[in-house]
Amino acid sequence: MKWNNKGYQFDEIGKLFEQRKRIMIYGAGEQGIYLLEKLNFLNCVDGFIDQDTEKQRTGICGLPVLEPDAVLNKRDKVHLIIIGTNQHNAAEIKKALVLAGYSEGSDFWSCEDEKTTAVFALYAYGKVYLSSSCLIPSTVCNLNCEKCLNFTPALNTFKRHVTKSVEQLREEVDLLFHWVDFIPRFQISGGEPLLYPYFCEIVEYVGANYRDKIGDRFETVLNGSVIPTDQQCLVMKKYDVLAIVDDYTENVPICSRNRKKIIEQLVRFNIRMEDNFVPEWFDLDIEHMDNSQLSGEEMAAYFDNCGNPWNYFEKGKLYACNFNSFAIKAGLIAETPDDYFDLNAEITPSRKKELVEFILGYNNRGYAGLCRHCAGWAKSNPKCVPVAVQVGENI
Ligand code: SF4
Repeated sequence: MKWNNKGYQFDEIGKLFEQRKRIMIYGAGEQGIYLLEKLNFLNCVDGFIDQDTEKQRTGICGLPVLEPDAVLNKRDKVHLIIIGTNQHNAAEIKKALVLAGYSEGSDFWSCEDEKTTAVFALYAYGKVYLSSSCLIPSTVCNLNCEKCLNFTPALNTFKRHVTKSVEQLREEVDLLFHWVDFIPRFQISGGEPLLYPYFCEIVEYVGANYRDKIGDRFETVLNGSVIPTDQQCLVMKKYDVLAIVDDYTENVPICSRNRKKIIEQLVRFNIRMEDNFVPEWFDLDIEHMDNSQLSGEEMAAYFDNCGNPWNYFEKGKLYACNFNSFAIKAGLIAETPDDYFDLNAEITPSRKKELVEFILGYNNRGYAGLCRHCAGWAKSNPKCVPVAVQVGENI
C-alpha cells in the first residue's frame, strides 16, 4: 500500500483502542494460551471465554474463564475480544459475536489478524509489535540451491557473501529491539547458521538480552546438512531455541547422510525441533518475471496480494520484504530509500506510528523494488520447483 496519510493511517481505529485497552481471549485451549503468551508483554488480558465448564471452575493461567453467554447475552463494552481457536471454531464464534452485536476489526478480531494486534499494541499501549523478523549472521552456505530464496548462487557467482562480526550483529540487534517491544517469532538464519563461527556468541547475546522480548518461536533455520556441535546445542537449549530442520534429503546427498545424526544430536540435548519437509518450493523467478507494464497502483495491489510477512533488518534498515533485501545484497537489484524504514533515526511517537504502518505494508512507493521482477511469496505464487536442486560442484 502506498502511504496516503503517513503517521495517521490507523488513527480512526486507534482512537477506539486508546479507550478500550483490556482484552478477553475467546478460547482457553492451546491456541488461546499461546495468544496469552504473545500478549503478555502488554499485560492487557483479563480472562478467557470458553464453554468448558471445568476450565470455568478452575480458571486458566491464573485468569478467570467466563462462559460464552456472559458476553453473548450482554455486550461487553469494556473489553475487546481476540478469538484464539482454530479456524473452524473461529468461524462459528465470529457468527455468534456478530449476532450479539459485536463488530469484527473493532470489537473483536482473530489471533491470525496480526495487523489489528499490532495496531492495538501501538495505540493502546504505545508498544511496537513485529510479528516476525530474522537475523542473518552470514550468507555463507555449504549448499548451492538453484532456487535459493536468499540467492546463494548469485552470492557465489558475484562473490558477494557477507559474514558479520559479533559486534556488528550486537549493534543491529540492539537497534531493532530499541524500537520493537515484542517479536513472537525471531529467526537466526543464513546461509547455514551452524557454519557461522560465532553462532554460540550471537545466540547467547540475543538470548541473554532479549529473550523476554521474543515469543515462543526463537528459532534457527538449519539446512539439514550440518551436525550441531555440543556447544551449539547447549546454548540453543539454554535459551529454548527451536531448531527448524529443513528436509532436502531427496536432492542433496549430504542431507541424507547427516539427517539422522542431526536429529539424534538435537534429541540428545532435548532441543525443540521442527522437521520441515515441504513437497516443493515456490520460485520467485526473478530471471523471467517482468512486471514493468504494471502501473504504480497495480504494483501496489500486487505487493498487497503477495502478503509476504517476512521483513529483514540490517545496518539499521528494516526492509519491507526480506527477498527484496536479499536481492539487493546479492547485487541483483539496486537499493532505493523506499525499500526500508530507517531505524537509525530518533524514536518519536509519530515515527513509531510510521514504523508500525511500514511493518503492516505501507511505504512511499506502495511496493518493494523487487516486486517488478518477482513472482511472489508462497500462496500468491503459482510457480513451483523441486526442493533444493543443486547447481555447481560444492557438495
Ligand atoms: S512480490 Fe516478491 S518482492 Fe514483492 S513483496 Fe512479494 S516476495 Fe517480496
